[in-house]
Amino acid sequence: MIFDLHCHTHFSDGLLSPEAVIARAKERGVEVLAITDHDTIAALEIAQKAAFDAGITLITGIEFSSQWGKGGVHIVGLGVNVNSAELIAAVGSQEEARQARALAIGERLSKAGFPGALQGAREIAGNAALGRPHFAQYLVTIGAVKNINAAFKKYLGAGKPADVKYQWPSMEQVNAWIHSAGGVAVLAHPIKYEMTRTRMCALIDSFVSAGGDAIEVISGLQPAAVTEDLIRIANERSLHASCGSDFHFPDQPWQELGSFGRLPAHAKPVWELLGYNQ
Ligand code: MN
Ligand code: MN
Ligand code: MN
Repeated sequence: MIFDLHCHTHFSDGLLSPEAVIARAKERGVEVLAITDHDTIAALEIAQKAAFDAGITLITGIEFSSQWGKGGVHIVGLGVNVNSAELIAAVGSQEEARQARALAIGERLSKAGFPGALQGAREIAGNAALGRPHFAQYLVTIGAVKNINAAFKKYLGAGKPADVKYQWPSMEQVNAWIHSAGGVAVLAHPIKYEMTRTRMCALIDSFVSAGGDAIEVISGLQPAAVTEDLIRIANERSLHASCGSDFHFPDQPWQELGSFGRLPAHAKPVWELLGYNQ
């Protein structure tokens, strides 16, 4: 079976509608798909229906923003009950936090000479939860910077004028939200935080202490040696293993739906916790 347990729709920072994501997953042979938008479950009702029609199994999902020390980390919740009052409240509080941060970024950019930034970013975000990429896109659109990278380098990145520090909820808090909604808590893409191996292991140990259940041992295209190392780290800690593309856009083969959908036999698949036996 091909599993893809991490991807995005236009309800967060992905490009495609839930229906289009399901159609693409189907075309690419995915049999079990989790949609995991950032801090929102807005895609899941539509996706559930489209998945049923397409004959794909949809696992409900969300990718929560969380905090570890000074840095942000992402925790995926899989198999969450979308009617859970705790989950709905959690999504609400993340949304408030995002809005507060967006307002602060807008003010900073206004002072830096871009009074239209907040409104502009909101228009670009549309349905999606407003975030820094939308401000970056706005700065590109008005010609203030050449590209998204430059927007972060000059304005939005660490230590720059519109760098608004925000304290996301702790891993304990996020794991508790996921568990109270009946879900499984998965530390997303451990290698993407660009830590040393020692620090990454410390993060994973904290995640275990915080009640985490699994880590993504495969997130998009990565060297086989990285996968092996992450499986070893997971197995040493009795953690389950997950895999996903982190698909956002078409034409990015390194994050394509269904391309990273099988785990080596010595990993303990997270889908055992979700009631699927391969
Ligand atoms: Mn994203
Ligand atoms: Mn992520
Ligand atoms: Mn993601």
